[in-house]
Amino acid sequence: MSQATIIDGKAFAAGLRERVGVAVAGLKDAHGLTPGLAVVLVGEDAASQIYVRNKNRQTVEAGMQSFEHRLPVETSQADLLAVVAKLNADPSVHGILVQLPLPDQIDSEAVLAAIDPHKDVDGFHAVNTGRLWSGATDAMTPCTPVGCLMMIKDQLGELKGKRALVIGRSNIVGKPMAALLLSEHCTVTLAHSRTEDLAGEARRADILVAAVGRAQMVKGDWVKPGACVIDVGMNRIPAPEKGEGKMRLVGDVDFDEVSRIAGSITPVPGGVGPMTIACLLRNTVLAACNQAGVPAPEF
Ligand code: NDP
Repeated sequence: MSQATIIDGKAFAAGLRERVGVAVAGLKDAHGLTPGLAVVLVGEDAASQIYVRNKNRQTVEAGMQSFEHRLPVETSQADLLAVVAKLNADPSVHGILVQLPLPDQIDSEAVLAAIDPHKDVDGFHAVNTGRLWSGATDAMTPCTPVGCLMMIKDQLGELKGKRALVIGRSNIVGKPMAALLLSEHCTVTLAHSRTEDLAGEARRADILVAAVGRAQMVKGDWVKPGACVIDVGMNRIPAPEKGEGKMRLVGDVDFDEVSRIAGSITPVPGGVGPMTIACLLRNTVLAACNQAGVPAPEF
């Protein structure tokens, strides 16, 4: 039997999307400003197509302008950079997202570096990374960790002085998550594949964020009783109970075990995942306000 509060990421994301929609309507009324998000997809990757479709749909539903650029898989780096340059110069585009992964002939780093940092709603540009680690509160920040922080604060309120462990040090999740928790005055440990005694580190954490990509790695006896556990991982494992050859989605946390010990926990699916696109919409509104020189709403 679980004793943890199950954090409903779907409902949380719906609430955030609603607040974004209200903010967008307010910006239109008060400033004639309609935030615009451009998504660039190169190639036919099936998962990317689904993400892009969802991003476009939710952008329109929030009252914003959505610009979709689909380019063939053989697109050259120069042609992609030309599209980015055009979007950088277009005043109706406030956010630019280039869907990753990109085909092999394209250097992803060069493309991300070419995006105007003010329009970098993914928060991957080195300028925004640097600003985040320098303590700037208005840097464009990667969407997944922003969503995680919102849910953690909703559960725990004031985070000052809490011990936080982030497992995983990628540029898109682990590192920005650590920076955000540090900016909330947590004492942050950033763990990775070479960390010694990971279970011991985890047992000291009031907040545990797992962003590893290893199915059900975090076990019940790793977790401090009452801790807030955020499971970013998305892993497909065989699900013979659903039929031969079927798979199911699980996180990096062993939900059955950990939900008996933790104070609160995000499920997979239905936890962190839905928040990521909602935070992309939020970032687009913040970028639009910043570019138009109007006060940004609080989310
Ligand atoms: P990466 O593969 O880029 O990073 C994984 C990190 O986990 C690395 O820092 C790696 O360490 C660390 N790691 C690997 N094995 C271990 C181990 N045994 N013990 C401790 N640390 C380990 O992954 P991402 O950050 O991109 O994604 C992580 C997970 O989150 C994936 O499952 C991904 O699908 C999911 N994800 C979910 C999102 C969502 O919206 N819900 C968004 C983005 C990602 P090292 O650096 O030493 O190699």
